[in-house]
Amino acid sequence: MSVRVRFAPSPTGFLHIGGARTALFNWLYARHMGGQFVLRIEDTDAARNSQEAVDVILNGLRWLGLAWDEGPMTGDATGPCRGERGPYFQSQRRENYEKRVEALLSHDLAYERDGAIRFRMKREATVFEDLIVGEVRRELTDREEKDPDFVIVRSDGKPVFHLTNVVDDLEMGITHVIRGEDHLSNTPKHIALFEAFGVPAPHYAHIPLILNPDGSKMSKRDAGASLHTYLEEGYAPEAVLNYLSLLGWSPKDNREMLPVKEMVDLFDLPGVLRHNARFDLAKLQWMNGQYMAQLPGDRFHELCVHTLAKAGYDTNTYPLEYVKGALDTCYGKLKTFAELPAYAGFYFRDTVEFEPEAEEKAFTKENRPLLQRLREVYAGMEKWDVGHLEAKLKNTAGELGVKVGALVLPVRVACTGSRVGPSLYHLLEVIGREVALARLDGALARMPV
Ligand code: GLU
Repeated sequence: MSVRVRFAPSPTGFLHIGGARTALFNWLYARHMGGQFVLRIEDTDAARNSQEAVDVILNGLRWLGLAWDEGPMTGDATGPCRGERGPYFQSQRRENYEKRVEALLSHDLAYERDGAIRFRMKREATVFEDLIVGEVRRELTDREEKDPDFVIVRSDGKPVFHLTNVVDDLEMGITHVIRGEDHLSNTPKHIALFEAFGVPAPHYAHIPLILNPDGSKMSKRDAGASLHTYLEEGYAPEAVLNYLSLLGWSPKDNREMLPVKEMVDLFDLPGVLRHNARFDLAKLQWMNGQYMAQLPGDRFHELCVHTLAKAGYDTNTYPLEYVKGALDTCYGKLKTFAELPAYAGFYFRDTVEFEPEAEEKAFTKENRPLLQRLREVYAGMEKWDVGHLEAKLKNTAGELGVKVGALVLPVRVACTGSRVGPSLYHLLEVIGREVALARLDGALARMPV
């Protein structure tokens, strides 16, 4: 039987990294087993629902590259996510729940009391084999021995989580429920519902929680708890994905840097650890650094272009070769993509924006004749390339009797507006003779005589 798993988040407006990890483990298991990964938005609580809250989930998963496999065709067949299917929304599946409740009522497996519908829970302990936790035994509490029944439809007609979750898992043919350990206590109820519907329950695999470095349970408010922090701070998604995979899982040889393809090859449920995982921001930052330095060039460009677009720079208006050349000068220089607009924005602006402090340091009276002379030399250069730009600048410094740095600073600030940035000779080559000379002229005009 082919594996079918699902990620079933409620749209709370927030994608916790624990949720992202649950999604990842489901996705990895599906890919590893050649199965299907279903995304189901558990949005029966209409009060909290909004398109924004759903988008937070979808965009988080897209950013991580966790594509879901099926669902109704989405409206726009020509939009940016062309061909993307799904997800399923519980709010659109109400009829299914109603039918199932009718069936339970007609078999006396559920009954009405005070306007609510209650499920007749079995009066005995539940024992099941969890694929991660092992054997789970759940005795009834004293209170439950008297009345273990629970509400499946509230008096206002709203179906309750336990019901909708089980009905969907059943009707979607889910074979493995991989979810956070916080749901372990719900599982006896869910298994009883499956039994009542006369269908064997899926396999369960409850993933240990993610804790803060100090061992406390990680909640919404804790630093680094939201996946979107990493998206906004410009982390490489592959780094975040790799880091998440190690929160509660470890390949047998204890390797840490794992490209997604290898994660898929190696992932298996028995490899999920049984103890809680500790979140370690320093390690995630380290891993991000490793990925930033090793991303394939094309992928680096893609993520750069995306970051620049978000910051308001439309790289599409420049020739592709220019964009590539510009971004190549940033490769290996960034800790996160969020640094890119400040680092390389000058490539994609018509005018230079000068940092006041850089201008003050570089555009001095003494530097004026130096820059003036270099401008002349550069204007007369035959070949405008890194080698010649460097040699000429160094010659000119010698000729003027100043250190190389004394020339580098004003040229850099003239062309970029900043004291930090890509290698000077490389960036000069990229912006080209015409722009470079115009920027030197612009700087000279700002320098005191
Ligand atoms: N909507 C539930 C949650 O977000 C889903 C639990 C499950 O995966 O079964 O916690």
